[in-house]
Amino acid sequence: MATDKSQIIGRFAPSPTGPLHVGSLVAALGSYLIAKKAGGLWLLRMEDLDLPRVVPGIADDMMRTLEKLGFAWDGEVLYQSRRTEHYRAAAEELQHRGLAYACGCTRSEIAQIASAPHEEGLVYPGLCREGLPPEKVERALRVKVYDEVISFDDGIMGRYSQHLTASCGDFVIHRADGPYAYHLAVVVDDAASGVNQVVRGADLLASTPRQIYLQCIFGFPTPSYYHLPLVTGPDGAKLSKRDNAVSLAAGCDLDREGGRRLFAALRFLGQSPPPELQDAAPVELLAWGVTHLDVATIPRTPASFLYP
Ligand code: GLU
Repeated sequence: MATDKSQIIGRFAPSPTGPLHVGSLVAALGSYLIAKKAGGLWLLRMEDLDLPRVVPGIADDMMRTLEKLGFAWDGEVLYQSRRTEHYRAAAEELQHRGLAYACGCTRSEIAQIASAPHEEGLVYPGLCREGLPPEKVERALRVKVYDEVISFDDGIMGRYSQHLTASCGDFVIHRADGPYAYHLAVVVDDAASGVNQVVRGADLLASTPRQIYLQCIFGFPTPSYYHLPLVTGPDGAKLSKRDNAVSLAAGCDLDREGGRRLFAALRFLGQSPPPELQDAAPVELLAWGVTHLDVATIPRTPASFLYP
């Protein structure tokens, strides 16, 4: 998109599987402020690849909510559902290079052999790595990982390292009966859009080494990463997207209260907007945030979201 290599390009990439909620507001705001503070572009990508989980109309609803909150994205919105041929080409490239292979294992077969599940799920024990056994049918395409530690410096969470062999093993990039995997799509799309700054929720911190690994094998540059603290419920439990109580627009007139939501989101991100801005218009709050953002005060720990 940009011609100038020093141009920062950030993005917000929600999955339209439920209405915009407070966690997505934090991701939208954090990604917007960090990109705009650097004079960068802020792109919008709808991660609607997993069609059975996509709720019709939600992508448009999300965009209307973002607009009411004063956000304006740069360029055209990218829809992953329209980019399957790019994911297919990338997966085929890995197969041709001998870096990906067909796997016929079921989940229960993997569970029987795998060691104790890691935080990222079961570690694939490599059963089909040397070729699909004749009695098996292809269920997924996996990318080979090697015995190495992937490390990166997150702009908020600090240094993060992961040993791919120990934490996930060869991972799935496509399921025979499903969409291309999120890890493949996100890497292909960020590279295609020139994204060089990724700001998103800390639930994706542990996915980042797999994405960096894919960037390396495709020869794509690695963006800078910023993982934002997760929003929890008042009881400290993880918020669920399906929980209507956390939908941003539910029971609230965003035209009147959007500014208050943004004010609260700025505070959640460790910023200190002056109290007189509590009832300011969304665009005013965003402008304040772009000028005053201090990434160093963004907390690392999950917290609940408090309305003013
Ligand atoms: N689509 C993901 C989500 O809504 C975010 C992906 C990303 O930012 O890389 O959680």
